[in-house]
Amino acid sequence: EFIKTYANHPVYKAPRGMELHAKSWQTEAPLRMLLNNLDGQVAENPDELVVYGGIGQAARNPESLRKIIELLLELDEYHSLLVQSGKPVGIIRSHPEAPRVLIANSNLVPAWATWDHFNELRAKGLMMYGQMTAGSWIYIGSQGILQGTYETFVECGVQHFNGDLTGKLIVSAGLGGMGGAQPLAATMAGGVFLGADVDETRIQKRLDSQYIDRMTHSYEEAIAWVQEAMEKGETLSVGLVSDAGDMLEKLLHANIVPDMLTDQTSAHDPLNGYIPNGLSMTLASVLRKTDPAEYKRLSLASMARHVGFMLELQKRGAVTFDYGNNLREFARQGGEPNAFNFPGFTPAYIRPLFCEGKGPFRWVALSGDPEDIFATDNALMEAFPENKPLINWLEKAQQKISFQGLPARICWLGMGEREKAGLIFNDLVKTGKVKGPIVIGRDHLDCGSVASPNRETESMMDGSDAVSDWPLLNLMSNTAGGATWVSFHHGGGVGMGYSQHAGMVVLADGTDRAATCLKRVLYNDPAMGIFRHTDAGYDKAKEWAEKFDLKVW
Ligand code: NAD
Repeated sequence: EFIKTYANHPVYKAPRGMELHAKSWQTEAPLRMLLNNLDGQVAENPDELVVYGGIGQAARNPESLRKIIELLLELDEYHSLLVQSGKPVGIIRSHPEAPRVLIANSNLVPAWATWDHFNELRAKGLMMYGQMTAGSWIYIGSQGILQGTYETFVECGVQHFNGDLTGKLIVSAGLGGMGGAQPLAATMAGGVFLGADVDETRIQKRLDSQYIDRMTHSYEEAIAWVQEAMEKGETLSVGLVSDAGDMLEKLLHANIVPDMLTDQTSAHDPLNGYIPNGLSMTLASVLRKTDPAEYKRLSLASMARHVGFMLELQKRGAVTFDYGNNLREFARQGGEPNAFNFPGFTPAYIRPLFCEGKGPFRWVALSGDPEDIFATDNALMEAFPENKPLINWLEKAQQKISFQGLPARICWLGMGEREKAGLIFNDLVKTGKVKGPIVIGRDHLDCGSVASPNRETESMMDGSDAVSDWPLLNLMSNTAGGATWVSFHHGGGVGMGYSQHAGMVVLADGTDRAATCLKRVLYNDPAMGIFRHTDAGYDKAKEWAEKFDLKVW
């Protein structure tokens, strides 16, 4: 009956309201979040169980999805469910403060950790790609990356444009699940945005959710719109249906040099993500199946061309950075030797935040009532009156963000702040100031949860970019601390062989048990970022370790 109502292909939907379907909120929470990941408003392609980020899935196949749902409906607080690459594989004995679900996605022994080997296993039905929050059931739609993108654009503005993006042109491509946050982040930061996507339906989705202002197939029309907005000093975002490289080539010919230039196509996956230049969507999906080797060759060559244009625009003055999709690496493989001549966004803009244990903290109202999120917004504004950027962000978010699926919020919080926020939320639930429990999680793109040498750990001070003991320690800390579900993935963001990362979600259901777990998890998790960056030699992290009396050696 439950499956008929909530997981009836092609309609997936998380239950709303206070009626429990599982035995407790500890299992109702992952159940709702799994289904929310697949909600048509949230997921990029629910038909294929794909949530975002190329082929990032929530469950391996429909049978596995069904089985996970059945098991979560029955699971009690003395057991935990094991999920291996989107398939339930066992139940272990545990206890009420232990995670209810333990998830491992897409992990391969290092010498076999390539897309080719992964794709073979995937074709045999043995694995799925979990991306970061797709397979760990804490994706909240484009909002999930919105504040990070906004902070990055604002910080780039501070470093290069005297803190004012009025009349400045931000150019990018890829308007999918995460990349689709760019247009709204750009206009929230005060700029003008032009972004290409080959797939018209992806831009349409951003129009529908009010993340982008306009769409066109005509380069000339797009340029006329953005130039007018720039002259008038107005904000505007335009999606152009086009290959990324083709759009940049036209900008170069017209000598229109963006102020800021980046990219969020699914470059991390040359076979199932990036669309080679010159191929229609239909042709691409045929070639992908009939001749994957040729598809990959074309894809790498297109990325080399694409990055070549970015390098030329950089020479002409565009502030250019990689936006976490491993485009530089695959362009290098495709024949562009200078692909790494522009920096990644982490060393350029984000690392100082990581040193404070800061990262993309997010939460979701399981009741489904938007008022619950507004209540949490208000509680945070009261709790952190001195944090003006946070208040500014929450006010903007309330005005501009339309929720996708269950109402949710994101904001970057650091050491101390996360624990405080978590306990406040638990009290809101306990005292009935919100209608239902809240789950708190984060992206795997966080201060102490990921090893990714072309992204989060690019150019670490001590050269420890590829050391992946850190995300494993993060996983173990969050398991020891009593997160409600934990995950360890490989290949998120940048693709197979290039990253390992851990995720956690913890429930605030108003109980004392939840308060105990929140205190531990929301202390340990950001502390991992401070440990990691202190160990790598960052003075700022050492300062924060002292400030919070963290034990580091
Ligand atoms: P997605 O698969 O939902 O969207 C990718 C989009 O790129 C699609 O709409 C696709 O049509 C488009 N595209 C592919 N090839 C193209 C081409 N040649 N020209 C123009 N458009 C093209 O993926 P997503 O969730 O939006 O993520 C995008 C990338 O960003 C991924 O590589 C992901 O790992 C990375 N990412 C970065 C961050 C970050 O913080 N920097 C966060 C999340 C994801």
